[in-house]
Amino acid sequence: MQGLMQDWPLLCSKVIDHASAYHPRREVVSRSVEGPIHRTNYREVRGRALRIAKRLEAEGIVLGDRVATMAWNTWRHLECWYGITGIGAIYHTLNPRLFPEQIAWIMNDAEDRLLFVDLTFLPLVEKLATQVPSLKRIVVLTDAAHMPQTSLAGAVPYEEWLAEADEDFAWKSFEETTAAGICYTSGTTGNPKGVLYSHRSNLLHSMMALQADAMGVSSRDRILPIVPLFHANGWGLAFTAPMIGAGLVMPGARMDGASVYELLRSEKVTFSAAVPTVWLMLLQHLEKEGGDLPDLEKVVIGGAACPRVVTQKFQDNYGVKVIHAWGMTEMSPLGTLCTIKPEYADLTGEALLDIEETQGHPPFGVEMKVTDDEGVERPWDGATFGRLKVRGPSVAKSYYKGIGAEMFDAEGWFDTGDVAHIDPHGYLQITDRSKDVIKSGGEWISSIDLENIAVGHPDVAEAAVIGLAHPKWDERPLLVVVPKEGRSPTKAEILAFMEGKVAKWWMPDDVAFVEEIPHTATGKIKKTTLREQFADFRLPTA
Ligand code: AMP
Repeated sequence: MQGLMQDWPLLCSKVIDHASAYHPRREVVSRSVEGPIHRTNYREVRGRALRIAKRLEAEGIVLGDRVATMAWNTWRHLECWYGITGIGAIYHTLNPRLFPEQIAWIMNDAEDRLLFVDLTFLPLVEKLATQVPSLKRIVVLTDAAHMPQTSLAGAVPYEEWLAEADEDFAWKSFEETTAAGICYTSGTTGNPKGVLYSHRSNLLHSMMALQADAMGVSSRDRILPIVPLFHANGWGLAFTAPMIGAGLVMPGARMDGASVYELLRSEKVTFSAAVPTVWLMLLQHLEKEGGDLPDLEKVVIGGAACPRVVTQKFQDNYGVKVIHAWGMTEMSPLGTLCTIKPEYADLTGEALLDIEETQGHPPFGVEMKVTDDEGVERPWDGATFGRLKVRGPSVAKSYYKGIGAEMFDAEGWFDTGDVAHIDPHGYLQITDRSKDVIKSGGEWISSIDLENIAVGHPDVAEAAVIGLAHPKWDERPLLVVVPKEGRSPTKAEILAFMEGKVAKWWMPDDVAFVEEIPHTATGKIKKTTLREQFADFRLPTA
């Protein structure tokens, strides 16, 4: 027997309709790419999204077409997402930090028909547009006054293009399982893989994110999504904030410590989300220039392991709660968030930090397990590592065009490629990518644990650990360190600082100092490049 409740498809347009109806004047503030601060609200965002939808139709874009965006977080990018999804087309976020050839490859794989591009990236697009034959129109996210000379055929300024359509338009209706967005994830090997979100997965993911023990935000929050919309579905925040009518503050092109600090203060931001490197830049700015964060209540830190010292400084020096989170592009992207369950509510000091250093527990909607290489489940004892596998309604069941099928099993488990342990209360701790874990004498050493400890040293700006071949132990850890500006710590000082914080046999065999550590387009340490860089390095123990 079927239930007798209404079929109300979970479509992205419902989110902006809700925000516009019930939180019409809630502000959406952006640092525009042109420079000045721009202010709008959810009613206006919806109105302009309707015009985008109508204008896209006039352009010949139909259900299922891919429409690319190469843009910073601004009101324009936000309204484009709603305009595109409002007619059942698919937003395709491009990461401008990739190489031009990679971007062209991705655009051809997705067969993008139209591109919305910020001024910043126009020179990049000029290099690659002719390599993407499917691309028929380029809309530059600016007005006529700021439109530069360009060699691009078919390039028009956004505001003029948009002025050709009015708001008299109704969202299209279709099944909630229809694709809404595509985001490519670049693994360390092989071609990038497309992750295809549906309207349903986006809405369910946002409802998951809104649980009190997840992001726990409300209409009273002013949210600063520093994580770009092109990184892992923008961590869902483009849907999460309007779903509850929270204010949005968009950072545009500037994510350095001073610019982020200025927005946090002037816009009274209460909640923000970014990768650890962004927060390190902010904390370094605060230490150098002074300042406080009276409005900021919570920050979500994820995308890479959050160093303990970041959590500690935010909480102790600035009174800001840190929620360490883990996720993946393939998971929309939230997997776990570290909020405190009653079992740990009495902890304080270092013992609490031990828990806060974990990536936390999954909200309703994510299931997880750790297994050995044969797929046998490992115990939840907070120590036994295994391959981390996940499933749920906002987890991918396949990549675009069916590639990478070996990562999904018949029971719906997706092999994340991460190595982790889970404690008896369901707190997950990522210990490595399966490709980065250091295998020493048949045992595993977590490179992430060592990096977290090393960045706690007051003279260390960034640290990375890689395994180098060793005649006796197979692999041994090398610690690569970027010293803080004007500091020159020694190997002995750093090793002495780490001693006692990890098992003796985990201690790095050597420390190398570099000016810079290579990063991927999403800000993660590029271990493959680092391993190449140190391929001829000889450990003193070898
Ligand atoms: P992406 O799809 O680009 O967001 O990358 C996802 C990967 O980033 C995960 O599989 C992890 O390896 C890593 N990652 C994300 N969040 C964390 C975290 N909090 N701690 C450690 N690794 C993380």
